[in-house]
Amino acid sequence: MKGKMAIAHALEREAEKLLACIHCGLCVSACPTYLRLGDENDSPRGRLYLMRAAAEGRLPLTSEALARHIDLCLGCRACETVCPSGVRYGRVLEAIRADLARQRRTLEHLSVRFLLNHVFTSPTRLRWFFAPARWLRRRAFARRLAEGRLLPTRLKLALELLLATSPEVDPIFSLPRERRAPSFASTRDQKRRVAFFAGCVAREFFELTNRATKDVLVAHGCEVEDPPDQVCCGALHAHAGEIETARALARRNIRVFERSAAEAIVVNVAGCGAMLKEYGELLADDPEYAARARAFAARVRDISEYLIAIGLRPGPRPVKLTVTYDAPCHLHHAQRVTAAPLELIRRLPGITFVPLVESEMCCGSAGIYNLHHPELADWLLHRKIEHLRRTGADVLLTGNAGCLLHLRRGVRQAGLSIRVMHPIELLALTYE
Ligand code: SF4
Ligand code: SF4
Repeated sequence: MKGKMAIAHALEREAEKLLACIHCGLCVSACPTYLRLGDENDSPRGRLYLMRAAAEGRLPLTSEALARHIDLCLGCRACETVCPSGVRYGRVLEAIRADLARQRRTLEHLSVRFLLNHVFTSPTRLRWFFAPARWLRRRAFARRLAEGRLLPTRLKLALELLLATSPEVDPIFSLPRERRAPSFASTRDQKRRVAFFAGCVAREFFELTNRATKDVLVAHGCEVEDPPDQVCCGALHAHAGEIETARALARRNIRVFERSAAEAIVVNVAGCGAMLKEYGELLADDPEYAARARAFAARVRDISEYLIAIGLRPGPRPVKLTVTYDAPCHLHHAQRVTAAPLELIRRLPGITFVPLVESEMCCGSAGIYNLHHPELADWLLHRKIEHLRRTGADVLLTGNAGCLLHLRRGVRQAGLSIRVMHPIELLALTYE
């Protein structure tokens, strides 16, 4: 698509849907940034108007207002869920971000681009890049540093999020390994074969969640493959406008998983799952990969979706806890997987489920939005924590890595003794 703006191409492709917009405003009232800022330009309808103006040359890509209103979008896609005309806002958002990324030259943008294009593309380089962080998260002085006032705001925030990845954050994981899942290895009735998509950041920092996911799959009679040469799904790249790198990563993953005869590609991170399911659209203009990408996407399942489809079999050990659930935007709005996580949770033996008000509203994490726009992200986080406080829950469950960290940070700051976990971790505990 050289020589043509990505937004112009995307609007052309989505023209039918965009023309179907009846200006009802439902998306406006569902938009968290509009709710906070009250500016039409910070609503989906306003942003679509700005994007159209940019595509038609009425607004230059260098416009500060355009960049600000697009940057402030969380990419939560709540606007898509409520739209009666099926406007696919996420598609055009990625396109305008690609156009904006191409003409940005600040040190911050160039550094982020370098990391995305040269570090996040290689599992080995990523491992080296994250090695100091993995070391730091287990040091006592890091906690003191995060609680003090020495660090600049953004660094402090990044450290708080890093500390929230530590397995020690949840006392459940201090249980000896043998007591948590003694019988999985001896399961004899493996009949299904699944491939596990481990994620790039999740592989580095959520090893216990990934372990629990594989254990639960084995307990359901699955033989689990974890292809070692899989790479990042490309979601971070697509959201940051690095769309060509996202496509290159998608092609690599397609080649890797084509070698597997697994009936499903199972993923436990909502953001990755949404991206993997959209490979068909990402590579729609690639004659060699378009059909292969659609075939790949058709095999992708969120772990909750997959377990419910094959027949969920929780273990016998009751979990006597009061539990609530926050729906990750990329599971609820992007993938439209809404019932399966709730069904999985409600069927955990012994739990008491309490609903969370506004559970489908973004918590403010939104990839690395919380680092770029801490004020707005924290406003959403505090709103969420206030709703959470009123539930009286012992545990908050959510199925996305970024949300887990952001919410753990919020819970800690609020002084609440609520555990924040992935639903699959609680399910794994029922097999002890
Ligand atoms: S909800 Fe859909 S149809 Fe209504 S104004 Fe928004 S984009 Fe248009
Ligand atoms: S993606 Fe979320 S923040 Fe962005 S316009 Fe849609 S509802 Fe608003």
